[in-house]
Amino acid sequence: MNLILLGAPGAGKGTQAEMISKHLNIPTISTGNIIRAALKSGTEMGLKAKSYMDAGQLVPDEVVIGIISERLKEEDCQNGFILDGFPRTIPQAEALDSMGIVIDKVIDIEVPDEKIAARMSGRRVCENCGTSYHLLYKIPREEGKCNECGGTLVQRKDDHPDTVLKRLTEYHNQTEPLKGYYEKQGKLFIVEGQEEVADTTALTFKALEA
Ligand code: ADP
Ligand code: ZN
Repeated sequence: MNLILLGAPGAGKGTQAEMISKHLNIPTISTGNIIRAALKSGTEMGLKAKSYMDAGQLVPDEVVIGIISERLKEEDCQNGFILDGFPRTIPQAEALDSMGIVIDKVIDIEVPDEKIAARMSGRRVCENCGTSYHLLYKIPREEGKCNECGGTLVQRKDDHPDTVLKRLTEYHNQTEPLKGYYEKQGKLFIVEGQEEVADTTALTFKALEA
């Protein structure tokens, strides 16, 4: 199954992607994580992306399209994949189509803006492997440490309140039109984000079976 997870920054796409990934045994491809990894290892692409990311803006289409087209060619994607954070613009969706990639379903996790801002302040991410946590909703077993690799949990620069507002504006302007794009193709499934992660996951799994 080839899936796309849509939703505002902080809506919980990443968490749902992880659940589906375990359930269906297919990889999650997160453009955000790939860019952060490139940044950490100081590649040219990472440096180019940094200024956009820190300002809460989208990285240029050609950069992320390049990343995705390379990543989807890898062996582990041949039996299906979950795209978390791609596409985020209409040209990115068109690029997927022109690569000949057939998407089966698009799951859109909906959370109102007011809730997003509050949630994002509690978000933490593993500095080492990129797994995300939340101080209220997805608490690590040991405070400040990653369950998966023991890495240190940090707050992302772009999760600071001012940047969050910019990212929400980018989402409404550039990413939300994708709902219409995929609805026309009959692929859009809307999941209302719930207070409890497990409740959202139950709705996500229902959408997968629909
Ligand atoms: P979130 O989903 O919470 O916004 P991500 O980790 O997916 O977090 O993305 C963080 C940042 O990485 C974005 O704000 C943007 O700058 C950049 N980015 C990730 N994916 C894309 C994409 N498909 N197109 C453009 N920029 C992207
Ligand atoms: Zn980790």
